[in-house]
Amino acid sequence: MNKIEHIGIAVKELGLSIPLFEQLLNTPCYKTEEVASEGVKTAFFQQGPNKIELLEAASENSPIGKFIAKKGEGIHHIAFDVDNIEAEMKRLAALGFELLNTVPKPGADNKLVCFLHPKSTNGVLIELCQEIR
Ligand code: ZN
Repeated sequence: MNKIEHIGIAVKELGLSIPLFEQLLNTPCYKTEEVASEGVKTAFFQQGPNKIELLEAASENSPIGKFIAKKGEGIHHIAFDVDNIEAEMKRLAALGFELLNTVPKPGADNKLVCFLHPKSTNGVLIELCQEIR
């Protein structure tokens, strides 16, 4: 596993949170993107070598909608950059970590992603992401 690629933060309204994070980070949002398969709208900020990903639910029944209903806004996941997502998934599954998908799936910002169930990672939702080259 390489560096932390981004930290995902669940927000109620991108329309309010994008300007807030632009002020906070003193950098413009460089991309917004909807991932329809996940029911989520995302916004990205580059901060040094890392990124911040804001996540707004596109529907109440989406995973982000459920997360916000249960826990409110806040840190949702930590994403690690990996060179070979399939090899990393295999390595972690062999160690007993619970993967939320069995094959890598397309995520936001030109990535293949896989999530690890927080119950196998001390309550932290972990995302593996590999740049699609
Ligand atoms: Zn993410």
